[in-house]
Amino acid sequence: MKKRKLKTSVYIFIILILVIILCCIFIFKSTGSKKYYSKEAINYIKKENIKNIYQYDYSKTLDEVIKSNNFNASYLDEYLNITYQDQTDFISKLNNYLSIGYSANEINNIFKLSLKNQDKLLSLSKQNDFIKYVGIKNFNINNLDRYNKYLEENNKDIQTTVTYVNINLDKEFYTDSIEINPDDDLTVIVNKYHHLAKDYVPKDMVVLFDSNRGAKMIKEAADAYKDFIEGAKNAGITLESTTAYRSYSYQNTLYTNYVNEDGKEKADTYSARPGSSEHQLGLAVDLNDPNVSGSRLDDKDYEWILNNSYKYGFIVRYTKDNEPITGYMEEPWHIRYLGIDLATKVYNSKLTYEEYYDLYIAEY
Ligand SMILES: [Zn+2]
Repeated sequence: MKKRKLKTSVYIFIILILVIILCCIFIFKSTGSKKYYSKEAINYIKKENIKNIYQYDYSKTLDEVIKSNNFNASYLDEYLNITYQDQTDFISKLNNYLSIGYSANEINNIFKLSLKNQDKLLSLSKQNDFIKYVGIKNFNINNLDRYNKYLEENNKDIQTTVTYVNINLDKEFYTDSIEINPDDDLTVIVNKYHHLAKDYVPKDMVVLFDSNRGAKMIKEAADAYKDFIEGAKNAGITLESTTAYRSYSYQNTLYTNYVNEDGKEKADTYSARPGSSEHQLGLAVDLNDPNVSGSRLDDKDYEWILNNSYKYGFIVRYTKDNEPITGYMEEPWHIRYLGIDLATKVYNSKLTYEEYYDLYIAEY
């Protein structure tokens, strides 16, 4: 009997301790999260007679706005509903967005965009219908209208829409092509929307080790090319270079000849217009298998090139799958130097270089 009593009191004691611990946790949690307005804000709220403020949860945004002397009474509701962001110029940006006409909800979404986009929005009139793009890494607010149009006209998801519009697929090839200066940048894109100046000639080119026709590439690419050819040889694949660097005027001659033979529309599917060829970069080389007659390569060659060139820093730019994006018919023999690291990433991504560049290299 005595033993049982003792047992019961031990249980009660344990339960009591547990209740006390739970109470402590609850009290600690509720006081821990409770925030109060700063002294400056409280004084200001009293002085300006801002009513009903305490019926809302504490708003750090409001607190900071008051503290920085930027409080605008007409935006009180918005301040209360805008999540504070720990970033420079938050308050001044916030007031700017409010004056442009954005709602609290829109502003909370604006602060989820990249800093570049946030800044661009400051100089634009009110943009509508952008919230659905929040969270898309390569979203560029400047292209908003084009995204919305593309989305309406094509059956693509939002991420694909953003990427395709960024790489200009909503425009005909060669529309609004931008002149670029590679300036030693090995990652540079040259295509039907990005061209080189007439007089652009890469620096530091050397003749390829296997070329008796004087085919040249930028030294780093030429060195990698030698390793590539040796790697192929070790795998039982014999390859050699045909052309590498081509000047603007040489590309012009080539392209003009093709146009005369096949017409412009057809020529555009297999030859770059002058200024728009990767060969002018000194980073591309065309390959040939001397043992294959009639065509440049056989299937075994192509298979090896496709799956191994990245190990030496090259990618196959114009595959069959890439045709709608690059605008070129398949060119198994054309490889482009990017360096081993980037070429490996592009190979593993299974994307065209255009898409990869837009998603992982370009900054929006
Ligand atoms: Zn080529």
